[in-house]
Amino acid sequence: MGVDNSGSLFPTYARYPLAFVKGQGSKLWDDQGNEYLDMMCGLAVTNLGHAPKKVADKLKEQIDTLWHTSNLFHIPNQEKLGQLLTDNSCADRVFFCSTGAEANEAAIKLARRYYQKVLGQPERYEIITFHMSFHGRTLATLTATGQDKVKEGFAPLPEGFVYAPYNDAEAVEKLIGDKTCAIMIEMVQGEGGVNPVKKEFVDKLVELCNRHGLLLIVDEIQTGMGRTGKLFAYEHYGIEPDIFTLAKGLGSGFPIGAMLGKEKLAEAFTAGSHGSTFGGTPLATAAGIATIETILDEGVVQRAAEMGQYIVSSLSAKLAGNPLVKEVRGLGMLIAIECTQNASELISEIHAQRVLVVSAGPNNIRLAPSLVIEKEEMDRGIEVICSVLAKKAAATV
Ligand SMILES: *Cc1c(COP(=O)(O)O)cnc(C)c1O
Repeated sequence: MGVDNSGSLFPTYARYPLAFVKGQGSKLWDDQGNEYLDMMCGLAVTNLGHAPKKVADKLKEQIDTLWHTSNLFHIPNQEKLGQLLTDNSCADRVFFCSTGAEANEAAIKLARRYYQKVLGQPERYEIITFHMSFHGRTLATLTATGQDKVKEGFAPLPEGFVYAPYNDAEAVEKLIGDKTCAIMIEMVQGEGGVNPVKKEFVDKLVELCNRHGLLLIVDEIQTGMGRTGKLFAYEHYGIEPDIFTLAKGLGSGFPIGAMLGKEKLAEAFTAGSHGSTFGGTPLATAAGIATIETILDEGVVQRAAEMGQYIVSSLSAKLAGNPLVKEVRGLGMLIAIECTQNASELISEIHAQRVLVVSAGPNNIRLAPSLVIEKEEMDRGIEVICSVLAKKAAATV
């Protein structure tokens, strides 16, 4: 890396000593002109690769036309993206915002307000979330997150969240009480270590929601937009959440988030009850339209499903017998190699071979390559990862 000029920034990130200045498809170039293969996509954001042409063209056209007006006016691009999302999901309504945390805030607010204003049950405000979940960094969403490390030093935290172990239906049932209004869950815990949820557990949650009149909120911020081999990960489980949230892949890297919900919830979000200045601007929704149209028109979801299976089987075959590897798992193209030790050194060694991967919890190497990565590029990345792990294993024995 060139000169480190980060002294003016709050030190909130433990940054890798790399600075990228250009990207195209699955390739990135650093400030020294070195080429890298990107197999993490800025944490499942640039799902169509860097600077995908259709999204770039649409953004350039919109840049020369109109960036921002206000949600005090109709925004045709926002209405079109809303239509595309509701036509292709179980939701009937969309609220646009700019980030994942903001989308989850909207989900939490909508659930509470539905009970308070529509059902007239203000005592029901509690949301059940899960150990090792991740829902964002605002006060409410970090409280919803089932990991203590994101909460340290931020007390007092908002009330109204309780936590159950993932995949433990009995524990969830025990937590349901007079105050419960919703259950909030990721279909694959991304930050928590790439843990796909079990089908029987999801079925049980749906049954509990029906029995107790609870809303099911699915956080699809990392899993949505084709990442898991379905447009939305809840489709793998044959369920329809009342609310789900999107951000990361929705704008191919242009900031945009969305909270989507069923028609019955619409009357809870009356005019003036919630809002966001930058939510669904003409520019952000242009990126969203071009992204979802590309995904739908070019068979990206099907390809992600097939490529995901190929990656897992290829990794499993090549890593079989490696004593450092505990398990290879994933859903679609959200994949983890679980190691028997802390993975940070291994990740640095993979970076040194100019392949970008990222952790997910201490022992996992997480892969989230572009959904349209070339097979040859993927094979090269797999080769690099497996040879780093093989060398390390040989050195350890
Ligand atoms: C990244 C992420 C968030 C937070 O999104 P931000 O855009 O960083 O606010 C929330 N939930 C999940 C599952 C995520 O992966």
